[in-house]
Amino acid sequence: MPLMIDHTDDGIVPLLCCDQCGERIGAAADGTGQWRVGAAGGRVPVVVLHRSCRRAFERIHGGDWAAMDLAVLPTLVREAMTASSPRRRWPR
Ligand SMILES: [Zn+2]
Repeated sequence: MPLMIDHTDDGIVPLLCCDQCGERIGAAADGTGQWRVGAAGGRVPVVVLHRSCRRAFERIHGGDWAAMDLAVLPTLVREAMTASSPRRRWPR
């Protein structure tokens, strides 16, 4: 789970952490959102990775992976929370 919470003396701090190394991704430009390429009708989770961890992750998990700039992730989350229908289709 890449979204984490740090507890501090002053409150909580949300962190986005890499699914490969577990370390914080500090800037959107340093990360990607990835998912396994699949057939229509399938559902797969999105993983969040440092760009530098992408190859190691893909080598360990095998298969074909699609990637999207991490800066787009907030848009995906907003759309996932939208009840409108039909939902927007993104190109594969
Ligand atoms: Zn990493």
